[in-house]
Amino acid sequence: MVDLKSQYLAIKKEVDEAIQNVIDSSVFIQGKTVREFEIQLQEYLQIPYVISCGNGTDALQMALMALGLQPGDEVITTPFTFIATAEVISLLHLTPVFVDVDPKTFNIDPALIEEKITTKTKAIIPVHLFGQAANMQEIQRIANQHSLFIIEDACQSLGTQYIDQQGNTIQTGTIGDIGVTSFFPTKNLGCFGDGGAIFTKNKELAERCRMIANHGSVKKYHYELIGVNSRLDAIQAAILGVKLKYLDDYIKARENAAALYDLLLQDDPGVIIPQRVDYSTHTFHQYTLTVMDGQRDRLKEKLAMNGIPSMIYYPKPLHLQKPFAHLGHTLGSLPVSEKLSEQVLSLPMHTELTPEQQTFIVEKIQEE
Ligand SMILES: *Cc1c(COP(=O)(O)O)cnc(C)c1O
Repeated sequence: MVDLKSQYLAIKKEVDEAIQNVIDSSVFIQGKTVREFEIQLQEYLQIPYVISCGNGTDALQMALMALGLQPGDEVITTPFTFIATAEVISLLHLTPVFVDVDPKTFNIDPALIEEKITTKTKAIIPVHLFGQAANMQEIQRIANQHSLFIIEDACQSLGTQYIDQQGNTIQTGTIGDIGVTSFFPTKNLGCFGDGGAIFTKNKELAERCRMIANHGSVKKYHYELIGVNSRLDAIQAAILGVKLKYLDDYIKARENAAALYDLLLQDDPGVIIPQRVDYSTHTFHQYTLTVMDGQRDRLKEKLAMNGIPSMIYYPKPLHLQKPFAHLGHTLGSLPVSEKLSEQVLSLPMHTELTPEQQTFIVEKIQEE
């Protein structure tokens, strides 16, 4: 599905040097290297505050904590995402409210949000799934009208540009009140372990997030609030500092690979290629087909028999998973997500994919 080794080998000298510099400095937690990476990412995203942290899940949790939400408050999100998005809502004794997705984009369907808003609703967490922005114009309109916070889950969309009504391009994760991302190795910008970050334009929220990430303290051994321990370590920051310089090249490589899959598959009646929207670029964290006629599992098996990996993101929507059983959903509650979970199949997608590999993959897809 991914080829992290080849990606590393292409920049080995720079990465090894950056890691060695951290070891030589022996400043492993916080310090200059971490701060330098945060500033580099601030510049890339054109946002005043980046707070790095331990992973994307922590980033989501800390974003909710920073907004001061209270137990019982409701947070609207999508059931067609990685568990982390909704897990942190429940962990903080908030209530996740799932809204079904648009079958074309796999992203939360704004037309279904308003009917789920109650007096307890405090925030919306849209996920820019697979590397394409959710419909932020509509989500922002709804959030403004109902005074809701927006936390963007940009864990799969670092580098994706949202295009607003005026035609301005804005990085995903920098549109709402807070944005979060993950540097898990397979993400658009991956480190060599766990890592994550929070983005915001709001100084006060930035200060709160930074405090929360460091045990609720600004001054050592003096605590302002209950926080957590969630920090990006310096070795990861050094690696990310090197790789961020190549992020646009990596995105270009994924876009090119997606264009070739499109070309080879667009006339295939058995699959629907990933559909694009005019308000976003697509960075293809995943290249995800919708497989018709109940053939998804058969296709996955056929690929496996030919040594081709493929993945199902996601095989069971969150509203039907055990941890959320208390919400009372049943089969049919959120029909689009349920149907997609039986149809989607993600193909190998990474920066090192060659046209020959892709042609082989498509040949096998189309072989009887
Ligand atoms: C990866 C991911 C996360 C969590 O990131 P971690 O760094 O693995 O904790 C959250 N949300 C989405 C949509 C993700 O893809």
